[in-house]
Amino acid sequence: MLEEQRSSLQSIEALGEFGLIDHLTSTFSHSLKSTITGIGDDAAVIDFNNKHTVVSTDMLVEGIHFHLGYMPMKHLGYKSVVVNVSDICAMNATPTHITVSISVSSRFSVEALEEFYEGVALACKVYKVDLIGGDTVASQKGMTISVTALGAIEKNKAVYRSGAQENDLLVVSGDLGSAYLGFQVLERERQVFEANPQHKPDLDLYTYLVERQLKPEARKDIIELLGQLEVQPTAMIDISDGLASEIKHICKSSTVGCHLYEDKIPIDPVAIRTCEEFSLDPTTVALSGGEDYELLFTIAQEDYPKIKANPNLTVIGHMTDKSQGAQLITRSGEALELKAQGWSAF
Ligand code: ADP
Ligand code: MG
Repeated sequence: MLEEQRSSLQSIEALGEFGLIDHLTSTFSHSLKSTITGIGDDAAVIDFNNKHTVVSTDMLVEGIHFHLGYMPMKHLGYKSVVVNVSDICAMNATPTHITVSISVSSRFSVEALEEFYEGVALACKVYKVDLIGGDTVASQKGMTISVTALGAIEKNKAVYRSGAQENDLLVVSGDLGSAYLGFQVLERERQVFEANPQHKPDLDLYTYLVERQLKPEARKDIIELLGQLEVQPTAMIDISDGLASEIKHICKSSTVGCHLYEDKIPIDPVAIRTCEEFSLDPTTVALSGGEDYELLFTIAQEDYPKIKANPNLTVIGHMTDKSQGAQLITRSGEALELKAQGWSAF
């Protein structure tokens, strides 16, 4: 935010803590029957009837998990909710409620926080979840966001990382690697802009990738689809750190091995083209890029006919005996140990 612009913006101090909370949250209403009491008391009250409750929480720190240089506040609000909703979906549950806690320094204007809450509100609408609370505190420097998401699921229908069996099929939704490439494109633009502020970025060619990075979606639709297809996955996880890392999580929790076939990994053509441009290997990007927020799950072989025609789902491998470990079967048929490199290895 430029200094001269800031003077026309509203400072947080002027509103005070309670004024700010009210200002940011008063437009939120409840859409779910299960929400008995939301914002405004010491705690929220929820009625899940006979279902099990699923809870997940995540924290995002400025400079570590997001950079406001290329992350607009509205997108940040949206993404903060989505990553938590994604965790609820990864349990096979329906996301229902969120709390949003923020710490902000006086560098942030009320208008900037309004934008953040516009993103939160949009995500609440898209995913049909109610905002039922949070906390608002001052920080010395920067912004931290903590979102807690709740969800509901029929008893004994939750899917854990630990349920995969030998011979189960390994399935992934959507395509992989694009969010990482979107980050690479934005980072390149930022560097060009720093060297030459007159530079006008042309991101048209990369719209899909940038969108995957800035506006990821949780695959609530896949959970609904699996319900309709009457497929109960044996294990499931969402892809936040990269395919390799998530496969290893399932293998470890389920005490199985895995054969992942390189030629089956779904990668968008724009992503492949951009890999060529950046001299990156598409398989490595899909394995280690992260932030795709697709769902990775295993199913019994007998369920294969139920999913095989669906363009949103790709079988990428199968589970093996634990002694075989997690292996990548390359295009040339070579078996390599699957390495979870994580984001920082790039
Ligand atoms: P307490 O002192 O009990 O922590 P607060 O004054 O922090 O209460 O919060 C008052 C109400 O506003 C509570 O219902 C709380 O959940 C909600 N709330 C506070 N901050 C936020 C926020 N950033 N987003 C959503 N709800 C919030
Ligand atoms: Mg509080």
